[in-house]
Amino acid sequence: MSMKIYNTLTGKKEEFVPLEQGKVKMYVCGPTVYNLIHIGNARPMIVFDTVRRYMEHKGLEVNYVSNFTDVDDKIIKKAVEEGVEASVISERYIGECKKDMAAMNVKPATTHPLATQEIGGMLEMIQTLIDKGHAYAAQDGTVYFRTRSFKEYGKLSHKNLEDLRGGNRSLLVSGEDQKEDALDFVLWKPKKEGEPYWESPWCEGRPGWHIECSVMSKKYLGEEIDIHAGGEDLVFPHHENEIAQSEAANGKTFAKYWMHNAFLNIDNKKMSKSLGNFFTVRDISEKYDLQILRFFMLSAHYRSPLNFSAELMEAAKNGYERIVTCVDNLKYLESKTGEGEMTGDETALLEEAKGFADKFDEAMDDDFNTADAISAIFELVKFANTHAGEQSAKAFLSGLKEEIVLLSDICGLIVDKEEEGLDADVERLIAERQEAKKAKNFARADEIRDELLARGIALKDTREGVKIVRL
Ligand code: AMP
Ligand code: ZN
Repeated sequence: MSMKIYNTLTGKKEEFVPLEQGKVKMYVCGPTVYNLIHIGNARPMIVFDTVRRYMEHKGLEVNYVSNFTDVDDKIIKKAVEEGVEASVISERYIGECKKDMAAMNVKPATTHPLATQEIGGMLEMIQTLIDKGHAYAAQDGTVYFRTRSFKEYGKLSHKNLEDLRGGNRSLLVSGEDQKEDALDFVLWKPKKEGEPYWESPWCEGRPGWHIECSVMSKKYLGEEIDIHAGGEDLVFPHHENEIAQSEAANGKTFAKYWMHNAFLNIDNKKMSKSLGNFFTVRDISEKYDLQILRFFMLSAHYRSPLNFSAELMEAAKNGYERIVTCVDNLKYLESKTGEGEMTGDETALLEEAKGFADKFDEAMDDDFNTADAISAIFELVKFANTHAGEQSAKAFLSGLKEEIVLLSDICGLIVDKEEEGLDADVERLIAERQEAKKAKNFARADEIRDELLARGIALKDTREGVKIVRL
């Protein structure tokens, strides 16, 4: 089956056909780096990293670009508060963001451009827009995009110019009174005292926010790209303005597919510092392995609003650990089993298990429905728990394990905790307990069980033999 993507531009699920066969050019708007990233910012990172991983799994080569906005009012404000250069703030938080990304197993982008390193390209694109009549410099040196000159303005957010005009008179804020039209937006603005600035033909100043993505996308991916993505708050005005800038300057369709994740709320409320319900990814990492946060994010479809609460995180922890425990058990059983041939039944069962991978693919092909994809992993886990036992052939156990690990890996979930594998000591204790039970020395068996419990390992006696559960 082919991959389908819901395209915000058309409001429909469409078959994904890359511009160039076998290759994907994808741009994801990244964070403004003035603080540690919050768990809302983590949603697009995890979601679009998973889109990338699935496409790579399908054999597509993905060129993935995601910027850091490193010049912005909030960064400057923080720099003033700390009495340092703005670059000190942005460099610090880019470093911290990369640490969080690694802990969430979000792959580094092919390129992570920085706005401050791309000013030359921005000046060029702004000049082109002026030359083509799509932009103008006001007296104070501010350059505005002439929104009405781009006839398709509003096509992404499905707004029409007249509605926008009616609703946006307030856009004519102080300092913007030299605009020709309330709808026009800033491409370049004059510096203020103490702010970082660059020379330009219009004034010493800095770029507006939207121009950076148009320029970086063009530089690193070309004038036409396959996918442009970000959170739903970016549809208007950010992405609408990016389309206007890029298409007016380049005369080509900017991006074929526009993908937007819905928002993450906390206890059904918008996350905000003033409500005291604001969590950074770092806050969460103090309580949970960030793999659990990743699992939590993927347990909902990316276009559905997602509610974050303590209970839901606990549920995510249980869900994630169910998979890890199953993999641990399969490894444990593997270590106990000889190299014997698979039985006919086992061959048939392993074939049946492949059906879960098909289900997984079907869910992912349907606009990356990770919620259903994870359900398919759970079904496979249940299947493995039912059919794997101490009598199973090694090839059967490893076949099941590899499939669970592969599907989890496509979601970026690390479920084979190699580094935390059972140490020899634990294995010895489990074996000794089995012997003690055989010899009806239940006191010693219980003693060992308690010793393992103290190390965070519970033992469960099941029909198929002993199973371990990490606590
Ligand atoms: P910002 O630094 O505000 O530009 O945000 C970086 C990315 O995080 C953008 O794609 C935003 O749309 C996204 N984002 C911000 N807050 C949330 C949230 N609460 N839920 C989901 N995505 C968010
Ligand atoms: Zn952007």
